[in-house]
Amino acid sequence: VSMNGSPQNPRRLLGLAIAALLVAAGMWLVYRSSTDDPVVAPTPDPTATTGAVVADTTATTAAVSLDAGRVAELVAFVEATRNLTFTEEPEVEIMAADEFGAELAGFLDTELDSSAITESEDVYRALALSPTDQEIEPLLREFLLRRTLGYYDNESATVRVRGGLGPLTESVLVHELTHALESEYFDLDSDRFSEREDESLLAFQAVVEGNAAFVEAAFVEQLSEAEKTERQLGQAGLVAPPPLSGPVLVTLAFPYSEGSVYVDGLFAAGGTDMLDLALTNPPRTSEQISEGQAIGLEDAVSEVRFPPADDVEMSRGVLGSLTLRLVLETALPRANARELSLEWSGDAFVSWREQTAVCVRADIVAESPAAQERMLIALTEVAKARVGTADVVAVDDLVRFTSCA
Ligand SMILES: [Zn+2]
Repeated sequence: VSMNGSPQNPRRLLGLAIAALLVAAGMWLVYRSSTDDPVVAPTPDPTATTGAVVADTTATTAAVSLDAGRVAELVAFVEATRNLTFTEEPEVEIMAADEFGAELAGFLDTELDSSAITESEDVYRALALSPTDQEIEPLLREFLLRRTLGYYDNESATVRVRGGLGPLTESVLVHELTHALESEYFDLDSDRFSEREDESLLAFQAVVEGNAAFVEAAFVEQLSEAEKTERQLGQAGLVAPPPLSGPVLVTLAFPYSEGSVYVDGLFAAGGTDMLDLALTNPPRTSEQISEGQAIGLEDAVSEVRFPPADDVEMSRGVLGSLTLRLVLETALPRANARELSLEWSGDAFVSWREQTAVCVRADIVAESPAAQERMLIALTEVAKARVGTADVVAVDDLVRFTSCA
């Protein structure tokens, strides 16, 4: 909600900025679905790093391409698991690593939104969630080039997958085929969310990736033990990702890590009908995803006025429960930060530049007066622990957090 008139450029946080890409791109991420696992940038998939693994020994033995019969089997698996049928045969391209890399690089050129990433970077920097001297875009690009094994190009309705990785290639293909299948029945184009200042896009993204992860997990489940191991070796053999900050990685991974837990909950409650419903009636906040809120229940989000900026306003938006959690984690144990972030009931932030620093001011509403008090105390701890300047005050029923770096 814009209380101060229309901003010239609606800005989005990192998760939202790259979400349009993620709708199309099935990435293989380092992050696992356990939300208690810390994400440490240079560490590959922790489940796959037992012992010294020379990944190429398995990877090079698998054929780059799959025969048509095998692709048809995987298509049938996706249809049966997702309980939908392709109306047209999906376009599938399975490519050698270098050829796939070249295609992907071109795809990223068209999909990465530099100005949105820069704006997100400023907000993350002001909140001390990303180093002040780090440019996110080149690292993000490198990350995506190293970790992406497949993507669905919505424009040409084509699934492209890197071949030669045996069961890992097959599980990625299953994931991407789920996107292709759902795009025949639902509007997966995220442009309709791009002008929103809230977290709608991120929450929708969590449903889309959660659904694909659901089908992928069902596929992995029915593999033999030997195939499961081979798949893990394939993951372990991927080139280590570049050093993006932990909070940036958690945000990138959110649609996959928490989206898959969320969708598991939906399926348990109502089967694949519930997955359909989540795409037509998606949640609007990261808090609904993290809390596993049922579809159709309106989350009571408080409408918050944008606070004043101390200089020319650079951007504005909603931090949301996820970004609040990441801020709280800079001073609190992870479990406490998560618990408190789920007491989020709404916020509004603005940013501006102060000499060489970037500043963010957020007005945050908690779900109860007691929670507001806890939020005030916790954010005061955050401010104390900070390099740079941060300040916390209670303003009526709001907690006002100002942070510069
Ligand atoms: Zn995906």
